[in-house]
Amino acid sequence: MKHYKLLTPGPLTTTQTVKEAMLRDWCTWDDDYNIEIVENIRQQLVSLATTQSGYTSVLMQGSGTASVESVLGSAIGDSDKILIINNGAYGKRMAEICHILSIDHTVLNFTETEQPDLKLITKTLQQDEKISHLAMVHCETTTGMLNPLEAVAKICRENKIVFILDAMSSFGGIEFDIADLDIGFMISSANKCIQGVPGFGFIIAKQSLIKATKGQARSLSLDLYDQWHTMEENNGKWRFTSPTHVVRAFAQALIELTEEKGIAARAKRYATNQSLLVHGMRELGFEALLEDSKHSPIITSFLSPDSDNYNFKQFYLALKSMGFVIYPGKVSNADCFRIGNIGEIYPEDIKSLLTAIKAAQFW
Ligand SMILES: *Cc1c(COP(=O)(O)O)cnc(C)c1O
Repeated sequence: MKHYKLLTPGPLTTTQTVKEAMLRDWCTWDDDYNIEIVENIRQQLVSLATTQSGYTSVLMQGSGTASVESVLGSAIGDSDKILIINNGAYGKRMAEICHILSIDHTVLNFTETEQPDLKLITKTLQQDEKISHLAMVHCETTTGMLNPLEAVAKICRENKIVFILDAMSSFGGIEFDIADLDIGFMISSANKCIQGVPGFGFIIAKQSLIKATKGQARSLSLDLYDQWHTMEENNGKWRFTSPTHVVRAFAQALIELTEEKGIAARAKRYATNQSLLVHGMRELGFEALLEDSKHSPIITSFLSPDSDNYNFKQFYLALKSMGFVIYPGKVSNADCFRIGNIGEIYPEDIKSLLTAIKAAQFW
């Protein structure tokens, strides 16, 4: 089978060395695994997220959504209420989780091409004193929209609201310090900007807040406190079978992030990829869904060409045969496709992609 690069929001293109790290078996009880690998990862994640103290991390089996569900299902107590900001599929998913788990919640809905309205958020918090938590997606992978992290963090701080951030597709690819932003819980996963493979997610949170979730979980396997407590007390041991190979690959991915000179350097590479991509696509006659000021450096939505010759599947297959896999659109009211620039992707790859798109000529 022909190899191709994934220009997707994750799973994404990983290095050969990350893949090779999985060619060995590990025992979940052994110190070589738990102390050397898991504990090391937990510490590194906290240092990537902040230079300040008071934060801890916990790894959780499953795709990223399992980690989101673990936080929402554990952090919101019976007398609490959460405000969810929704301007895309992942915001909507958080609302769905709250609905299914019968968590008291309010949703502020915006369209997928709209930025959350800060005044409305403040007003909602001030009008409903019961609201204790707020959840927002940082980069809405649905469109590639970057939501106003600093402004919403400030509103949460001023109103004494615990801020839960889904930074799934942005952590590792965009620089920020979670302590500066006073974030309560931040969620991400192995197969996004850290450039590992899928199999687990992780939560970086204020230690005091994780401790306060004891006994509140609405699920056994997604009990945030219990998972954290077990790792703390047993040198990194997971409660239930851990995805050992995936964890080992993640440890290698963290080494490679350091070799790249950290998040700042990676963020720069992604941003270069993204601007090359948008610029090149415009030259080819494509139009981005969002205005430039709303774009993240992570993934970009393009409007499907308005041409009888265009068909996503054919376009996709033509690019795949030339070595690139792109992503379908996920916007409800616009016909789009998406191209990611995260993962082991360099400006040279974006240039080759643009050449391939030009050669595909399906519009
Ligand atoms: C990838 C992603 C998730 C998690 O999706 P899974 O398919 O469960 O891994 C959640 N939120 C955002 C913003 C994402 O990009």
